[in-house]
Amino acid sequence: MAMTENHLMAVYARYPVTLSHGQGAEVWDIQGKHYWDFLAGIGVNALGYHHERVVKALNQAVSLTHTSNLFWHQPGIDLSNKMAEITHGYWSLWANSGTEANEAGIKLMRRYGKTVGRSAILSLSGGFHGRTMGSLSATFVPAYQDPFTPLVPEFYEVEAGNLSALEEALDRFKPCGLIIEAIQGEGGVVPLPPGYLSAAAKLAQDAGTLLMVDEVQTGMGRTGDWFGFQHEGINPDIITVAKGLGAGIPIGGMLAKKEVARYFQPGDHGTTFGGNPLAATVALEVLDWLQSEGLEHVRQMAPKMEAKLVALQDAFPEIVSGYRGRGLMWGLVVKVPAKTLVLDALDNGLILNAPKPDVIRMLPPLIIDDRALDAFFEIMTQVFSSYITSQREGA
Ligand code: PLP
Repeated sequence: MAMTENHLMAVYARYPVTLSHGQGAEVWDIQGKHYWDFLAGIGVNALGYHHERVVKALNQAVSLTHTSNLFWHQPGIDLSNKMAEITHGYWSLWANSGTEANEAGIKLMRRYGKTVGRSAILSLSGGFHGRTMGSLSATFVPAYQDPFTPLVPEFYEVEAGNLSALEEALDRFKPCGLIIEAIQGEGGVVPLPPGYLSAAAKLAQDAGTLLMVDEVQTGMGRTGDWFGFQHEGINPDIITVAKGLGAGIPIGGMLAKKEVARYFQPGDHGTTFGGNPLAATVALEVLDWLQSEGLEHVRQMAPKMEAKLVALQDAFPEIVSGYRGRGLMWGLVVKVPAKTLVLDALDNGLILNAPKPDVIRMLPPLIIDDRALDAFFEIMTQVFSSYITSQREGA
């Protein structure tokens, strides 16, 4: 559908679709066309659309949606206590997005740095941490950074997965902080090599550098655990979360061990909206759902989703060269332009995206069921088959 005239700044390459409403993992556009949503608002709609728990929480919050952080409110207290229960004692600071959660973490690392005379911050090649100036400075993607230089000083890039490069950088820059994603989502759903995170955590600790794990995309059940780092058995100094935590209501969180959180003094940071009663009430409901059934559901669906990717690779070796990810976060590596396939899938009623030219990403709502997986497989089969046919006809 051609877009109507509008005054939205043109920073997004939007699909030519205007969405109208959804239910579960299904969504419709304003012309009534039906889609299976395997992107979930880029990993946000954890409970899909119109989930009864989210509706209940939204209704619950209507008489006190916002207070400012000048006041205490019960949902905010309950949310921090629930998060402390999940993390075994981390303290929380609420923001409104992933990039803001990371900004808060960057500030906390710098605040710690002031006490020990350090200011450098390291992050990994291929990583993505957001678009505000601090998070952008930790995101070494020239297309994102170059138009906005000068960036925040003393951010340095380290090669992802290379422990000796990390050791060298820790020694050279004596950083106050190191930022890592457990699986690089925007970078193309690239998991770190097994053992890297635990070794990096040990190196950072020995070097007096705080480790912040950016769990904005991998966190809150997406990988089948609360956090994507858990299988490496580490306890990062700082964890950042956002996306699925609010199931569509904007919230980000910067969580820190008590001994690290104490570097923030009253007045050091603040936000008008962060963790307001509306966002906190919904986030609490999401955590409750994950705890009571969601995590288990993701663990049950993950191997089924993986089996579909294996089947696609087996059926279309001329298109699929591999797949990677965990839980309900997957990238299908393809030998032909991913974007072409993603647009064809959209035409066929399946929402996906291509974070890299050779990667199709799946971040379905965590509530998906067998019916959704079957529909996914059927549409992908159709898209790949017609791609092959069109190539043969064009040849
Ligand atoms: N960190 C990671 C790992 C992300 O994937 C993203 C967004 O995709 C962000 C940070 C930024 O989050 P937001 O877009 O909510 O600012």
